[in-house]
Amino acid sequence: MNAQQQINNLREELHDHNYRYYILDAPIISDYEFDMKLKELQSLEGAHPEFYDENSPTMRVGGTVTKNFNTIAHDQRMYSLENSYSKDELLEWEKRIQRILGDVPITYTCELKYDGASISITYENGHLVRALTRGDGFQGDDVTANVKTIRSIPLHLRDGFPSKFDIRGEIILPLDGFAKMNEERINAGEDPYMNPRNTASGSLKLQDSAVVAERPLDCLLYALVGKNLPADTHFELLEKARSWGFKIPAEAKLCNSSKEVFEYLEYWDLNRHTLPYETDGVVVKVNNLQLQEELGYTAKSPRWALAYKFKTEQASTILEEITYQVGRTGAITPVANLTPVLLAGTTVKRASLHNADQISKLDIREGDTVYVEKGGEIIPKIVGVDLSERPAHSIPTTYIQYCPECGTELERQEGEAQHFCPNYSGCPPQITGRIQHFISRKAMDIEGLGAETVELLFKEGLIENYADLYTLSRDEVIPLERMAEKSADNLVQGIAASVNIPFERVLFALGIRFVGETVAKVLAKAYKNIDALMAASVEELIQVNEIGDRIAESVVSFFNDKKNNEIITRLKGYGLQFSLTEEQLLNQSDILKGQTFVVSGVFEKLERTELKKLIEDNGGKVSSSISSKTSFLVAGANMGPSKKTKAEALGVPIISEDEFLDKVK
Ligand code: AMP
Ligand code: ZN
Repeated sequence: MNAQQQINNLREELHDHNYRYYILDAPIISDYEFDMKLKELQSLEGAHPEFYDENSPTMRVGGTVTKNFNTIAHDQRMYSLENSYSKDELLEWEKRIQRILGDVPITYTCELKYDGASISITYENGHLVRALTRGDGFQGDDVTANVKTIRSIPLHLRDGFPSKFDIRGEIILPLDGFAKMNEERINAGEDPYMNPRNTASGSLKLQDSAVVAERPLDCLLYALVGKNLPADTHFELLEKARSWGFKIPAEAKLCNSSKEVFEYLEYWDLNRHTLPYETDGVVVKVNNLQLQEELGYTAKSPRWALAYKFKTEQASTILEEITYQVGRTGAITPVANLTPVLLAGTTVKRASLHNADQISKLDIREGDTVYVEKGGEIIPKIVGVDLSERPAHSIPTTYIQYCPECGTELERQEGEAQHFCPNYSGCPPQITGRIQHFISRKAMDIEGLGAETVELLFKEGLIENYADLYTLSRDEVIPLERMAEKSADNLVQGIAASVNIPFERVLFALGIRFVGETVAKVLAKAYKNIDALMAASVEELIQVNEIGDRIAESVVSFFNDKKNNEIITRLKGYGLQFSLTEEQLLNQSDILKGQTFVVSGVFEKLERTELKKLIEDNGGKVSSSISSKTSFLVAGANMGPSKKTKAEALGVPIISEDEFLDKVK
């Protein structure tokens, strides 16, 4: 089999596995096998750029950078929907359309109204060619590269599809994926995203599609547009689209009467919280396409469809007390403690008040009757105050000035919404929070030690920072509450075992603000050991790919702190990993530091991916497009002519594979 056949077979196979996994939800190979095949394809494609395919399964991992999103006209306008809020309005709508259509029976397709970012995707001859945002309805932004990274959107269709059509839907972030993203952000000391919808639409406009590829985005499709579509009804079209490989939510339902429509509404109003994604209502559509055409459009929306909006579930209750939480980074979060109230199927006792501005904007006071809502946010929020219920002697809330845990005066940095307790090394929840982060699964993963035990150890005066963990003896631990000999042994052993955790995770475990898992990896790779990292200045740090001012400043100030330095010296003494292993270091240098390379074409001695790795392992940066910042263009055979012209125009030196290899010898 020649390379081209091999590539084609792998592509087909991977498209098929993708379909089985994301659409049928019935994979027949393991994730690992899938990854191996994808890697194989990646390296074959790297060696044979002449067989480039813009819809190869390898596009899922992203990597293209879009500086400006082009605005492109929609073939057919993307309309809005008319909203309704009651069953009466729905009945009126039915009467209205029945008047226009005369005495014909009408059936409906009911779908949930998916709450995300609208998208219109064009397919030609079964290939995805373009994806546009809704924009103003007439024209949208070309976000094709980003959309291709979403696994449930097919790049190639299965049989029976029309030669050209657009399919429309919503790009969403399922709730569990959203929660996971936020957990990671909080772990990195960053503010969590507010809600899934905004995060989904923000993701579409990210410049680096590799970042989009990492987000757990999904796409729910609800309409086909085009000429000569192969069905007479909307519902049949949805089913057809499903058979071509699209993800059409199973919740879409055919309804034969307004009674059945009402049943659908009632069912989902009650059960919407069981869905893995957000919905804010139902869309009722006249099913017959001929009738749709007769009904046509108003200036803004189709006459043949109506959105029915669920009432946002709201409850009113009394705000008993405002308390303040201190996080691991010292950030203060005001919390509303409420008289318990039932909302969206759960009892709510607490709501977040976000920050001081939020409290004063809504003039929220203790003793107030407040409205609580549960939107996309996981934590319920207070959306208003019932002023008519305000007690006569109510006192305006004054935000605390001193830390509720340690009494230190709070600070608020310019431009930041949140107050902070600056008592980094003496404020109890900051101390225990840091230790809890240190031992957590993705950091030092210390078995036998949990968050509560950390608090207990701290309260008993046995630990004050994470270095102290390594001097704990079983005799000290055994007298603790609920501690048996066996668990004391486990604890001490768990701590001892953690000295083998690799450097990048130790770096993450230190709890430097803004240094999450990914950033820790980047820094470990760039600096190779802690001493080099500690010696780096802000200016040097921001030279590293992905490291911005905010991270750089945080890293430098962490290592400028004398106490942190002492702790690190101690941890070194206990044998923790503070540099990359021999294996990781092999073949690494920083001779290419500060240089940016663009690699293009086919090479003889190395595969393209190997070449790129060699650049990164030697401290250089790889970029996909040529700019004035490019140091060298490494050119192989069959390099694209536009790259060459651009390099020449900008005066970027063009070097061969051998010339490059000489540099890293
Ligand atoms: P609006 O933005 O309130 O005018 O609502 C119209 C938008 O709802 C459309 O642009 C679609 O993106 C979105 N939408 C969500 N779910 C559906 C659905 N099942 N059918 C049609 N449109 C939907
Ligand atoms: Zn404090």
